[in-house]
Amino acid sequence: MSDALESRDPHCLFCKIVSKEIPAAEVARTEGAIVFKDVHPKAPTHLLVVPLRHAANLGEFTATAANHEVGDLFALASKMGREAGGDGYRIVVNEGPDAGQTVFHLHLHVLAGRAMSWPPG
Ligand code: AMP
Ligand code: ZN
Repeated sequence: MSDALESRDPHCLFCKIVSKEIPAAEVARTEGAIVFKDVHPKAPTHLLVVPLRHAANLGEFTATAANHEVGDLFALASKMGREAGGDGYRIVVNEGPDAGQTVFHLHLHVLAGRAMSWPPG
């Protein structure tokens, strides 16, 4: 947690959720990440898996994180998707304007609870 606080960006919405300065519907917290409900859910289950440490996107995170930190994030997202029940789930990471990223602190969307189409819009 101290590493996360050291890496905190004072202007970042998700850093403020990590530090509890802004409330969120938190469903899990591990050594390296938190999981909370997306405020505008796009599926019956829509969770965000967010590293405690600030990194703007997946590229920045993977450039600076140990491999196990990247693996831990995906393992946590997978656990959340499986625990949602249903017959599958989707993990999405948006990076940059073309992908529609709006919050510049890495987050894995976990979507579950309905059938989803492909390709995404
Ligand atoms: P992205 O477009 O991939 O950057 O996703 C950002 C997500 O954060 C969107 O799905 C938003 O609905 C969600 N979001 C924004 N503000 C909050 C908040 N305060 N609490 C929970 N989710 C949020
Ligand atoms: Zn941040």
